[in-house]
Amino acid sequence: MTDRYFVETPISGRQAVLSGPEAHHLIHVMRAKRGTAVVLFDGSGAEFAAEVEQVDRREVALAILRRDEVDRELPLEVTLGVAMPKGDRQRWLIEKAVELGVARVVPLRTARSVAQPVRQALDRLRRAVIEASKQCGRNRMMQVAQPRDWPDFVAETSDVPLRLLAHPTGGEGLADVLPRADRPGGVLAAVGPEGGFTEEEVSLAMTAGWRSIDLGPRTLRVETAAILLAGILAVRFGPLAD
Ligand code: SAH
Repeated sequence: MTDRYFVETPISGRQAVLSGPEAHHLIHVMRAKRGTAVVLFDGSGAEFAAEVEQVDRREVALAILRRDEVDRELPLEVTLGVAMPKGDRQRWLIEKAVELGVARVVPLRTARSVAQPVRQALDRLRRAVIEASKQCGRNRMMQVAQPRDWPDFVAETSDVPLRLLAHPTGGEGLADVLPRADRPGGVLAAVGPEGGFTEEEVSLAMTAGWRSIDLGPRTLRVETAAILLAGILAVRFGPLAD
């Protein structure tokens, strides 16, 4: 696959300019010259065949040769609400969620969660989204939302057709929870912190119409539970299911 580069500003017209870390990579790692062929994407859903026109110290000007709509998204919108783990495991979660086609990750503030990412950390996670999208070929950017308090998140999402709460004890099994027939328009799956959701948090969601889902007899790490859920939804409702 030709190297992919992300352009912050939407591409329109016949030229694009790369700057920042993307330009750095193209200039200093790939040693691009006039005529080097690359693929650009801007998060809008399209990708662009392009050719290097001019290399400066910090910027690369490219000629746009062709625009292709290439859809590598899941056929339903998956949102993961996650009481985020710390450090590397957070970055790992984001990378894998991008690869599996998740539309949005919402960091959750729950009674037992550790501090959720602040602005700088969110910027780093968004950079991780770009890196993963370059690698896996996604042309739409997974959104990493601002952290939400659990009660607000529950209140704001009442119109999502299928809402799943991962909870180790007493949840329903997968077969009970996932509808057999139609693919819902959107799915929300929430994962609690290492200390788990409190009973009040669980009952708040149940009252609001969520289903609790049991992922088996072993206690999974937050990021494992999140990625397992994303994988289950991709298999159940994605192209692999057809
Ligand atoms: N001791 C905690 C475990 C938390 S594990 C408890 O009893 O709740 C962190 C989160 O991952 C949980 O809140 C849940 O959302 C998810 N999770 C981990 N293992 C799970 C399992 N076997 N079934 C369902 N959810 C699980």
